[in-house]
Amino acid sequence: MPVDPTQPYDESNVFAKILRGELPCKKVYEDDHALAFHDINPMAPVHILVIPKGPYVSWDDFSERASDAEIAGLVRAVGLVARDAGMVVQGYRLLSNVGKRSGQEVPHLHVHIFGGEPLGPMLAR
Ligand code: AMP
Repeated sequence: MPVDPTQPYDESNVFAKILRGELPCKKVYEDDHALAFHDINPMAPVHILVIPKGPYVSWDDFSERASDAEIAGLVRAVGLVARDAGMVVQGYRLLSNVGKRSGQEVPHLHVHIFGGEPLGPMLAR
């Protein structure tokens, strides 16, 4: 069921459970503001998700309500994770789905990092 980004944050979503330690993840990085872990169903040789620790449904919600420190923390974490994974020279792709037209499935903001092979066109036609 695609996410409705106008709904309030749902504490029972899978990434909230990972943040509370109720579900496992293959952790890549963690700091005060962000957690990064491998996607459970990778769509590229490298497929990492970076999430804020706060309760934000989507990029829309985050950019409206998050503090400057939270926003800086997430943005820096995305860059650091990609650098640490050695993806800068060959290149990589960032993607964040927002709401139903994008197909967002998990109602906790996440930035996908894809890499490890040529990624093709930005959108399938
Ligand atoms: P989106 O369609 O942008 O909401 O992407 C949700 C992503 O979360 C998908 O790529 C899923 O494979 C991934 N995902 C769902 N559950 C888990 C989980 N428990 N651990 C890691 N990744 C997950």
